Amino acid sequence: MPTEFESTVSASENAASEAGRATVLEAHKLVKRYRVGKSTLTALDGVSFDLLAGETHGIVGESGCGKSTLAKLLVGLETPDEGAIELQGKPRGKGRRQFRQSSREIQMVFQDPYTALNPKMTAGDIVREPFEIHPQVVTRSQREARIVELFERVGLPAEARHKYPAEFSGGQRQRIGIARALALDPSVIVCDESVAALDVSIQAQVLNLLNDLKDELGISYVFISHDLSIMRQISDRVSVLYLGRVVETGSVEDVFERPQHPYTRALLEAVPVPDPEVRTAAAPALQGDVPSPLDIPSGCAFRTRCPIATERCATERPELTARPDSQSRGEVACHYPLTKPV
Ligand code: ADP
Ligand code: MG
Repeated sequence: MPTEFESTVSASENAASEAGRATVLEAHKLVKRYRVGKSTLTALDGVSFDLLAGETHGIVGESGCGKSTLAKLLVGLETPDEGAIELQGKPRGKGRRQFRQSSREIQMVFQDPYTALNPKMTAGDIVREPFEIHPQVVTRSQREARIVELFERVGLPAEARHKYPAEFSGGQRQRIGIARALALDPSVIVCDESVAALDVSIQAQVLNLLNDLKDELGISYVFISHDLSIMRQISDRVSVLYLGRVVETGSVEDVFERPQHPYTRALLEAVPVPDPEVRTAAAPALQGDVPSPLDIPSGCAFRTRCPIATERCATERPELTARPDSQSRGEVACHYPLTKPV
């Protein structure tokens, strides 16, 4: 039964308050183009996105579909050509001071633990660096203690701060990257393929660490991965990107158990099933490659690989529309959404 208060708020606020959570990050219709020679490449083509407090929102899609571009826009490493980003309800990047403040609130953990850390700096100095950029956050005299605390929080011995990146394993380096991301006490961390370069057993440890931090520190994650099994383990909500557009979004249950976009289903069917008895012969996985973002197909960008595309798909671009079955603001952009379970 909604209370009187809830019945007066808008639908999207209502969804957030149902879960008792505020929206920490919101992106409106982000567009990012790159010049490539004389042509223009559209890396992101109108992506909207939101993240609730304490939530992990997964972004999945094949290589080249715009995941890293989205990450860079969210953390402010690149600026959008169109669209806007709000962090804690405030616009990002308007004016230097606000930008610096908002860049404290959102941090990134990169993919490659072997290149993300400066090899000439000790682990401690790497984690200290954010304090040099934002000196007001922790006073000089308290920094060493804070660094020790951060090392312990990510499961590294305090003594490890005197060593150099080359002296650590890939998993340990990623812990250093996480400690650096935590240094300024952010509310959002963007993980771009942050465990992709690690062995499976180490991946699980780092994912557990990220989950523990979410509970202990109330961090929200944007978690980018091409790996659907990782996505399923770690995400609360998932958005599927194809050639710079969100084609399906919703809870993990909606998207993984009842995918409605043929692309989502094809991605799921492409995941190897360990038991050959379960493997379906009827599921031709994704055909061909993703088309070039220099020449995105008209209408629905997925139509050139879609088994059920019609003429309409070439002329009429499907917009994201609410899934009728969804409990969690699920949406799909397809003229012929699939309704049968996988
Ligand atoms: P993903 O992370 O999903 O693999 P990216 O966001 O890295 O995809 O890239 C999306 C598209 O934008 C790709 O075609 C990529 O080649 C292109 N792209 C990314 N950054 C640049 C850049 N700085 N200049 C030109 N093209 C770029
Ligand atoms: Mg990428």
